[in-house]
Amino acid sequence: MTSVGFIGLGNMGAPMAGNLVAAGLDVTGHDVAERARAAARAKGLAIADSAAAATADHDVVITMLPDGAALLAVYRTIVADLRANTILMDCSTVDIASARQAHDMAAERNLPSVDAPVSGGIAGAEAGTLTFMVGGDVSACEAVRPLLDIMGRTIVRCGGPGCGQAVKICNNMILGVSMIGVAEALVLARKLDLDPGRVFDVVSTSSGSCWAMNDYCPLPGVGPESPADHDYAPGFTAALMSKDLGLSQQAAASVDVATPMGAMAASVYEAMVASGSGHLDFSAVIRHVRSLMRE
Ligand code: NAD
Repeated sequence: MTSVGFIGLGNMGAPMAGNLVAAGLDVTGHDVAERARAAARAKGLAIADSAAAATADHDVVITMLPDGAALLAVYRTIVADLRANTILMDCSTVDIASARQAHDMAAERNLPSVDAPVSGGIAGAEAGTLTFMVGGDVSACEAVRPLLDIMGRTIVRCGGPGCGQAVKICNNMILGVSMIGVAEALVLARKLDLDPGRVFDVVSTSSGSCWAMNDYCPLPGVGPESPADHDYAPGFTAALMSKDLGLSQQAAASVDVATPMGAMAASVYEAMVASGSGHLDFSAVIRHVRSLMRE
């Protein structure tokens, strides 16, 4: 049986690890937060007192952490003590430079590694239907495939080390920009005295359709159930979206290109977070957009 050490048992990590347990794998987890440890225990995980204790003797180590700094901090405490042939798989969303540094730390010990960030949110993590964007050597990517098939539905190898993170950053730049576009159009539609339900019916089946409108409409009572119907409880927080758009700006600067819409979206979510709304789902950006539109 494959054994897994799983570090970072938050909104995403706990259900992902829970699916591995449900599939019969031997999973030991660790998180610095007691609330997360308790939630993971309830899903059947064995919990260790430290990241090193959770990972020292396993086939695969999975990390699902907030950012690159947390990832590298955890790697510094665990990599030296991992047994030979342990595969490192980071599923967090982190900057490309940190992802490559994590691969380098694994390579220094001759350990295979992959970056495998996800899309699909908490619902996808719970249902085991995530999309994984995988970067790393072909053999390492193939070795983790059975675990990815348990936690996800769509698995795409994007290229070598760091390429999974690079694709993820591009995807989330599209999402951040498109949610603002949808929000602006819906606020405009209301000012034009249109029925938002009819706007949804048309746009979601026309050339304006996109995930932000069709699956995650930022207006309550319009489209399928979404965080807007629960007072914008996340979901995917505005703080995480702001982080990801910051990563896209960093990535753009690293190859000396401008992404004007991405930059504008980054500043909108940054202002939303600064105003104290970072804990809300990112679709609550419609409230911020309303004030920008002087509604
Ligand atoms: P989260 O904040 O709920 O979970 C992160 C967990 O990591 C927390 O429980 C925290 O206590 C733990 N942690 C932090 N530092 C640690 C350390 N040094 N050792 C052990 N545990 C530590 O965040 P999340 O929503 O689960 O997101 C995790 C990652 O997945 C992020 O990189 C995020 O960008 C990405 N992501 C999130 C979503 C989403 O919808 N929430 C979707 C796609 C990708």
